Amino acid sequence: MVIKLPWNEWGGTVDLALSEEQQDVRRLAEDFVAREVAPHVVAWDRAEEVDRGIVRKLGAVGFLGLTIPEEYGGSGGDHLSYCLVTEELGRGDSSVRGIVSVSLGLVAKTLASWGTEEQKRAWLPRLASGDALGCFGLTEPGTGSDAGALTTRAVRDGDDYVIDGSKMFITNGTWADLVLLFARTGGAPGHKGISAFLVPADAPGLTRRAVHGKLGLRGQATAELTLEGVRVPASAMLGPEGKGFSVAMSALAKGRMSVAAGCVGIAQAALDAAVRYAGEREQFGRPIASYQLVQELLSDIAVDVDAARLLTWRVADLIDRGQDFATAASQAKLYASEAAVRCANNALQVFGGYGYIDEYPVGKLLRDARVMTLYEGTSQIQKLIIGRALTGVSAF
Ligand SMILES: Cc1cc2nc3c(=O)[nH]c(=O)nc-3n(C[C@H](O)[C@H](O)[C@H](O)COP(=O)(O)OP(=O)(O)OC[C@H]3O[C@@H](n4cnc5c(N)ncnc54)[C@H](O)[C@@H]3O)c2cc1C
Repeated sequence: MVIKLPWNEWGGTVDLALSEEQQDVRRLAEDFVAREVAPHVVAWDRAEEVDRGIVRKLGAVGFLGLTIPEEYGGSGGDHLSYCLVTEELGRGDSSVRGIVSVSLGLVAKTLASWGTEEQKRAWLPRLASGDALGCFGLTEPGTGSDAGALTTRAVRDGDDYVIDGSKMFITNGTWADLVLLFARTGGAPGHKGISAFLVPADAPGLTRRAVHGKLGLRGQATAELTLEGVRVPASAMLGPEGKGFSVAMSALAKGRMSVAAGCVGIAQAALDAAVRYAGEREQFGRPIASYQLVQELLSDIAVDVDAARLLTWRVADLIDRGQDFATAASQAKLYASEAAVRCANNALQVFGGYGYIDEYPVGKLLRDARVMTLYEGTSQIQKLIIGRALTGVSAF
């Protein structure tokens, strides 16, 4: 049955029946996760490192090129397909999901939107195939939510720019071949003086330090980057000079959809695990699934999963229709990330003490979920964006 939902002020409709193509993509992602991810999740988490070979595999199956035009080596497809894949990867392992969300979602897709023909030809086929990995360098030790105040500086020197500064918490950072880097080029204060650059990660003067001891996403290569006299040609600038903040915000708007989809995956994994366990575990002579208070935990998770998924699919629908999606992306990211934490926490409650050890999946789901309300804009920042859209008054 095809259900049509009205999307109030967004004025569109979404067909909730997936097309054959979308179902195929989802099955492909399910199979990929079952084969290449699920058997290794616990070991990767304990080792604090996902097997790097996963990048090539993600590229070979086309997941690093989703929505990128085929003429640039991408695998095409619509944004709902991208969400379906991201959800499945998030259901399997958020560390793996993050590789795609950053290299494709924040870097390749931004390059496809803002890049010159030469920049696209140089990088997109490599990023889409997994031959090269991208990272997104916005956050600095002193500037997180207030990204417009960043202090990394790029100074023009003849035909080059020379960059000095540091970046913090950069996902894919130690693995990446390409850094989409944001630096101050002009004297203009705040976001007006920022430009974006495509910086090869092996550029002399760029050093990376792995960040260890994370609560979750332990398998992910997170790094601090230091830039000392890093020289790039002026042609490495992505988008116009002084428009770097717009480049970053456009990347993050779409990125928030992909984080939201990953959170739906976490929530779905929590639901699947909790329902299964509740049916198997017996206390007081009966499966714990028969107790109403346990059913309440399960039903709360189930409602959160569906609500988060529908908000996320709405963003994909808006993007594919060419409509404004930024506020909807903030809504989806806010709801789905908070829901992922709630769902994983409720699932852990269903597991009792066994949920607290890593032989069972729910503890990791909770640890991985926790960062989702922090990165790509904290929940507070999402509320300020939504509040600005509602009132027309900016708190920034
Ligand atoms: C695992 C991980 C991976 C990451 N990956 C990347 C990456 O790939 N690239 C990248 O650039 N960054 C990345 N980040 C950085 C992330 O985006 C920032 O941590 C995030 O934006 C928050 O910044 P902050 O940590 O400096 O917190 P702060 O900005 O210092 O915020 C601290 C607290 O103050 C609140 N707050 C701040 N300003 C306001 C306000 N105006 N109103 C109300 N509350 C406010 C925040 O909501 C938060 O609760 C990553 C972070 C982590 C932990």
